[in-house]
Amino acid sequence: MKNNILARNYRGSTIISIFILQILFFCGQGKTIAQENETITIKGLRQHMDSIASDATEGRFTGSPGYRKAAQYAANIFREAGLNPGYTNEKGEKSYFQPVPFIRYNYDPASSITILKNGKNKTFCHSAGNFIILNPGIQNENIPMASPAFIGYGINEPELGWDDYTGVDVKGRWVIVLNGIPAADSMNPSFPDTLRKRYTDWKIRDSLKLHALTEHKAAGVILLPDKYATDNWESTALQNYMYNYIHYAEADINRKVSNEPVMPLVLLKAELAQLLLSRQSYDPMSHKGSYHSYILDNTEMYIAIDCKKESVNCYNVVAVSPGTDSVLRKEYMTVGAHLDHLGKIGDHVYNGANDDASGCVIILEAAKALALNPPKRSVLCVLYTAEELSLIGSMHFVKNPPVPIGQISLNINIEQIGSKNRDYKGVWAIGSPQFKESFFKAGNSFVEADFKFDPIESYLEALRGHVDLWSYYQKNIPAIMLSSGGFKDHHTPQDKIDLIDFDHLQFAAKLLYSFIIELGNEQPLIDTKKINKTDN
Ligand SMILES: [Zn+2]
Repeated sequence: MKNNILARNYRGSTIISIFILQILFFCGQGKTIAQENETITIKGLRQHMDSIASDATEGRFTGSPGYRKAAQYAANIFREAGLNPGYTNEKGEKSYFQPVPFIRYNYDPASSITILKNGKNKTFCHSAGNFIILNPGIQNENIPMASPAFIGYGINEPELGWDDYTGVDVKGRWVIVLNGIPAADSMNPSFPDTLRKRYTDWKIRDSLKLHALTEHKAAGVILLPDKYATDNWESTALQNYMYNYIHYAEADINRKVSNEPVMPLVLLKAELAQLLLSRQSYDPMSHKGSYHSYILDNTEMYIAIDCKKESVNCYNVVAVSPGTDSVLRKEYMTVGAHLDHLGKIGDHVYNGANDDASGCVIILEAAKALALNPPKRSVLCVLYTAEELSLIGSMHFVKNPPVPIGQISLNINIEQIGSKNRDYKGVWAIGSPQFKESFFKAGNSFVEADFKFDPIESYLEALRGHVDLWSYYQKNIPAIMLSSGGFKDHHTPQDKIDLIDFDHLQFAAKLLYSFIIELGNEQPLIDTKKINKTDN
């Protein structure tokens, strides 16, 4: 509050403004925002990083006490900086927390798989991490599974030249399916290009495969891991909570369409997969050899999955900086990063210092400058929940925005921007081409910094469903992502605070603020006359 009053007095004083402009001119900065940029300090960034990404928040898994701790800290910082609560509930009460409703499945640790092969049986417990339940399917029941069927990648497209169901009747059987699609040029006959295109997007691919399995009346699905899942089994297990955590709206759709839960779906650890498929000459890890679909005559499996459903609320943290121009303030820019990460498993805390505490931390620090000197447009700062669970938090935000969606003119998304092990030394922007000029303008005041800009269209496949920018892109809201590329510690317990480059983070926070000012003061980005009309 105090900050806002000071900022208003400062802007109201022409003499002081001219004086400061002159100083800035002589310093060669040429920017009125330089002084606000001084409020962005390494000390502040460190404090935010320690509060969000230390072991105390236990990896900020969506809905966990650690996540709530980090969210409460972020809300306090927005309040101290002088930004207003950005969410209003049905009763008209303002809050920094936008509730995001979930259903969570809690599995009984005794859930298990027993494999009976050639007269010998072995039992594998869920709690020991032997398998990942992607969808519990039928619950509280032992599901016998005699003679399961193996059907390769489970692709049923005879008209396009590929049918893994040939010669095998899967009705009433559990079906063993390889994850993903065949690697290029590894098979004979090679996998058709038309199908490769159709099955590239993992969400579309999985739904096409599930559709075929449902049509053929399979009883359940055993999914075999690819090399990535095998090499990163622990983080795969953590990430696949996404299937155990369903957004209410999605759960409703599932129930209406197909009496959810549809079909039990389990991903097996590589060792168990090998046990099952000893007859195959095809290696799903290297994609070498060839496979054929067949019934596993000498094999039986018993799967016992026991779980309870519960309703959980998690929260996006939302703060608003009102614009200074009476017309442009009706337009909103969103500036966001995801606050959640993978949580912890055993003693391993996945701190997610770079993914994506780095993004949250620079927004929190830039918020101080924003409150001192806001642009003409209004700015909504959003720290999303459940990005790691398939973008549920940002999807919820664009479906339930705190202001009419037509008034959100652009989105800035920050992802993985501060690692010492970053691929790109400077700041790399991927976004709608109309941002390019402003991005480089914002970068002008930084000497010896590296900048790169790529149009979003060049990276659609990599971004699809993987970063919060995607939620906006789907709603046709111009969006840009600032990052420093990939880093080798991604989704490992090594993504810790000691691998954060705070000098770089400070530069990124200053650049972010300059960029917000550039874009926030530009001529209308959307038709404000239209907004005025819908307002009345
Ligand atoms: Zn991540």
